[in-house]
Amino acid sequence: MSDIQKKSDVILIGAGVMSATLGSILKELAPDWDIKVFEKLDKAGEESSNEWNNAGTGHAALCELNYTKEKADGSIDTTKAVKVNEQFQVSRQFWSYLVKSNLIENPQDFIMPIPHMSLVQGEENVAFLQKRFEALSNIPLFQDMEYSDDPEKLKKWIPLIMEDRTQDQPIAATKIDSGTDVNFGALTRKLFDHLEETDVEVNYKHSVKDIKRTSDGSWEVKVHDLDNDKLEFHTAKFIFIGGGGGSLPLLQKTGIPESKNIGGFPVSGLFMVCNNPEIVEKHHGKVYGKAKVGAPPMSVPHLDTRFIDNKKSLLFGPYAGFSPKFLKTGSNFDLFGSVKPSNVLTMLSAGAKELALTKYLIQQVLSSKEQRMAELREFIPNAKSEDWDIVVAGQRVQVIKDTEAGGKGTLQFGTEVVSAQDGSIAALLGASPGASTAVQVMLEVLERCFPQHTKEWEPKIKEMVPSYGVSLAENPEMFRKIHTETEETLGLTVNGPISGAKSKSS
Ligand SMILES: Cc1cc2nc3c(=O)[nH]c(=O)nc-3n(C[C@H](O)[C@H](O)[C@H](O)COP(=O)(O)OP(=O)(O)OC[C@H]3O[C@@H](n4cnc5c(N)ncnc54)[C@H](O)[C@@H]3O)c2cc1C
Repeated sequence: MSDIQKKSDVILIGAGVMSATLGSILKELAPDWDIKVFEKLDKAGEESSNEWNNAGTGHAALCELNYTKEKADGSIDTTKAVKVNEQFQVSRQFWSYLVKSNLIENPQDFIMPIPHMSLVQGEENVAFLQKRFEALSNIPLFQDMEYSDDPEKLKKWIPLIMEDRTQDQPIAATKIDSGTDVNFGALTRKLFDHLEETDVEVNYKHSVKDIKRTSDGSWEVKVHDLDNDKLEFHTAKFIFIGGGGGSLPLLQKTGIPESKNIGGFPVSGLFMVCNNPEIVEKHHGKVYGKAKVGAPPMSVPHLDTRFIDNKKSLLFGPYAGFSPKFLKTGSNFDLFGSVKPSNVLTMLSAGAKELALTKYLIQQVLSSKEQRMAELREFIPNAKSEDWDIVVAGQRVQVIKDTEAGGKGTLQFGTEVVSAQDGSIAALLGASPGASTAVQVMLEVLERCFPQHTKEWEPKIKEMVPSYGVSLAENPEMFRKIHTETEETLGLTVNGPISGAKSKSS
């Protein structure tokens, strides 16, 4: 049975953090626009955005070593770290705006302060960390970072990691107290509650099956109402494909030229979760290590204090692996179904290039719990198997495309927006840095797809995100003001406002 519905201004596909963010921004900029959401599951934030499916790191490049590469001359390239940090400041500002405007409440349900640390061992890695610290702590965004290679000091910072550790090689860490743990699932649910209160029609258990251009240049989506086993057709002037791993197959259905020559490489993940409260209490921080040689950036190991369901817990991982599914709730045919005449060469080239990575990921999938415990013991030397359980994380679908630098079938590790030339449809692909940059990325979607409204919307965007269009790294005064204000509004002031002091002890 088919049912032609009223045309709306905007359709958002998927109820993850990206659609939640885009919908919430649009409601402020164009309150009269009619917005519909279609989500195939029965709740919002159940796929990658769910708190148990991602690591919950408010990525601000405070601890992730892969954002600061060492250049050929031995100096540290801080460009990406500055970019990621500035993007997170944009998210903080928008969330603060929503709280101050009473559009969402109780920010502690979705964001908590937690020190972010980087930890390395071995002479070469310690030298790298020290150089990284020197380079970053000269930039206002990172100025409260501390460095130490003194085991006694590290015992205070990371007692659980230092307990029973054989100190046969140099060890060092950096620590910055202004890091955060973000419950992106709780945030997504809050944003969807807010959207529903503002008359956005959110349709759960509605799976989008097809997307087609209509004769007047709008888009028609074919939707399966899963409860009533009924097909519906809805049209809109603008569509955002926020299907997470499910975005690529939907983008391919649009047939837009920009959707050609793109493929997806799915990477699964696991975390270990500690179920012993005594151990959980001994750790307070997100501690990122270095990825092993040959391991992809998404398998950088970290030991994280997490705040989920008002409870403190400890997660270690992620252990990356291979699965052909594009969503955790997806199908084993997702990968093969995404191979089309327009991307088969790109996919085959990537397959040939990434044999080592595929082999690595398959080996990871086949690891036993004891092998995983061995990796955990590099962080917690005395970790006991009975204290840790395995939880399955979300799926990431990394973008494969042809690039000038990498050639045909190059694997990308970032987040990518693909949009039609006329701005009538956009899709979000990729995973990292992911949810933390949702606000910046969705503002970019609006700039790309609604250039005719940019001037009219700018004052409101600046009210929501005062640093819009400004480099905070180059405007330390503005950074301090914004950082302090958002810290207060979001309840992140446990350590008081940032002081501007730089410290080092060794
Ligand atoms: C293991 C792991 C760790 C991560 N760690 C971090 C981290 O520490 N910090 C960080 O910032 N980011 C992290 N990320 C990335 C982050 O989780 C994602 O970037 C973000 O959640 C993506 O949000 P989304 O809205 O695009 O997708 P999702 O949250 O996956 O939502 C997509 C939604 O679309 C729905 N959908 C799909 N297809 C259809 C369809 N055809 N019809 C209707 N609905 C559909 C899905 O059911 C789902 O609800 C991590 C990701 C993973 C997997």
